[in-house]
Amino acid sequence: MDFRDSAQEASWRAEVREFIEESAPDAYRDGSQMAGPVYGRGDDLFQEWRDAVVARGWMAPAWPREYGGIDLSIMQQFIMTEEFSLARSPHPGGRGVSMVGPTIIHHGSDEQKSELLSGTLDGNLIWAQGFSEPGAGSDLASLQLRAVRDGDDYVLNGQKIWTSDATTCNWLFVLARTDPDAPKHRGISYFVTPLDVPGLTISPIVDMTGGGELCETFFEDVRIPARYLLGEENRGWYVAMTTLDFERSGIAGAVGLQLQLRELIDLAHIRARRASLPVRESLKRELADLWIASHAARLMSYNVASMQSRGLVPNREASQVKLFSSEIQVRSANTAVAVLGLQGQVTGADDPWAVKAGRLARYYMGVLPTVIAGGTSEIQRNIIATRGLGLPRA
Ligand SMILES: Cc1cc2nc3c(=O)[nH]c(=O)nc-3n(C[C@H](O)[C@H](O)[C@H](O)COP(=O)(O)OP(=O)(O)OC[C@H]3O[C@@H](n4cnc5c(N)ncnc54)[C@H](O)[C@@H]3O)c2cc1C
Repeated sequence: MDFRDSAQEASWRAEVREFIEESAPDAYRDGSQMAGPVYGRGDDLFQEWRDAVVARGWMAPAWPREYGGIDLSIMQQFIMTEEFSLARSPHPGGRGVSMVGPTIIHHGSDEQKSELLSGTLDGNLIWAQGFSEPGAGSDLASLQLRAVRDGDDYVLNGQKIWTSDATTCNWLFVLARTDPDAPKHRGISYFVTPLDVPGLTISPIVDMTGGGELCETFFEDVRIPARYLLGEENRGWYVAMTTLDFERSGIAGAVGLQLQLRELIDLAHIRARRASLPVRESLKRELADLWIASHAARLMSYNVASMQSRGLVPNREASQVKLFSSEIQVRSANTAVAVLGLQGQVTGADDPWAVKAGRLARYYMGVLPTVIAGGTSEIQRNIIATRGLGLPRA
C-alpha cells in the first residue's frame, strides 16, 4: 500500500500548513494552552481560530459548493484534520459540520437547507446532540421523549441526558418518539430546534474536571414547528443512523495520542537524567508497545478515510478504530499519570507543581470518557462481532 500523498494532496497539505502557520493560535501550537470546549461556543482563543477557518471557507471543505463547501475530496478533508491535529488545533466545525450538517444535506428539505446550513458554516448555529436518555444509551431505540403533533407544531415532553455543551450551544438535534405503538425503531422522529424555547430547561452535570460540559435537558410542553421535522415522521431512526455514520474517522484521536506519547517519552528521559538512573525496563517496554499501537491506530484511521473516499461506508472498520484508539488513549494516559506520580494529579497550567503545564494530567481526565461517548467499547465489540465477523446476535 502506498501511503504517500498524490501530487494534488501534497500541494493541499502544504497549503493547509501555510494557513496553520499564519492563523493557528501560538498557544495551541506550542502546547501551552489546550483547546478548551471545542463543541460549544468556546473561549476567546477558540473563537479566534474558528473565525480564521470560517474566513478561509474551510469549515466543511468536502461539502458540495451549493451548500457552502468547496467540493474537496474526503482525503483532502482528512489531510486538513490531520494537519490541524498535528498543530494541536481542533477542527472548529463541531457537531454542525461533522454530524447534523451532512444529515440535513441528505434528508433535509430545501427550506431546511437554506435556513440551517449557512448559519452552521459561519459558526452562528452551534449544535448539541440530544439522543441519550436516562434509560436509553447503548439501547438508543428505547428512547421515551414523547412528541405529539398539535396543529403546525409538535409538543415534546420528557428528558435527555449527557447532552454535551447544551449550555454553550444554541441549537439541538433531538430524537423523540412519535408513535409509541410501533416497533421501537419505527416510532421515532428526528427534530431540530433552537435551545432557547419555552419549556426547555438545561441543567449542567459537574464532572470530575469540575466543568459542566455534560448536561441534562428537560422538555415540558416544548413546541417545535413541524417544519423542523427532519426526514419523515417515524423514520427518524434511519435519519439518526446517517448522523452517526458521519461521526469522525478517528484521526484526531490517533494524532493526539502520538503527540501525548512524545511528551511522555521526553518526560521519561528528563526524569531519568535528573535522578541519574536509567529509564525502567518495564516503562521502556510499555512506551514501545504504546508507540506501535499509536501507529496502528493512525493506519486504521487512514483505512477508514480511504474507504470513505472510495464511496464505501466503513462500518466495522469505524468501530475498530474507535475501540482501539480510545482504549489505547486511556492506557497511555494511565501510564502518563503513573510516571508523574503525585504530580499526575496537578492539572493547573500555572501551578508550580504542574509538569508540562498540567497537559498530561488534563489529557488523562479528558480521555477517560472516550471509551463511553459515541458508543461504548462493549457496543463496538458487539458491532465487530456481529456485522464484521458474522457471529449471531445474543
Ligand atoms: C463524555 C460523554 C459525552 C457524551 N455526549 C453525548 C451527547 O452530546 N449527546 C448524547 O445524546 N449522548 C451523549 N453521551 C452519551 C453516550 O452516548 C452514552 O453514555 C453511551 O451511549 C452509553 O450509554 P449509557 O451511558 O446509557 O450506558 P448503558 O447503555 O446503560 O451501558 C452501561 C454499561 O453496560 C454496557 N452494555 C450496555 N449494553 C450492552 C450490550 N448490549 N452488550 C454488552 N454490554 C452492554 C455498556 O458498554 C456499559 O459498560 C455522552 C457520553 C459521554 C461519556
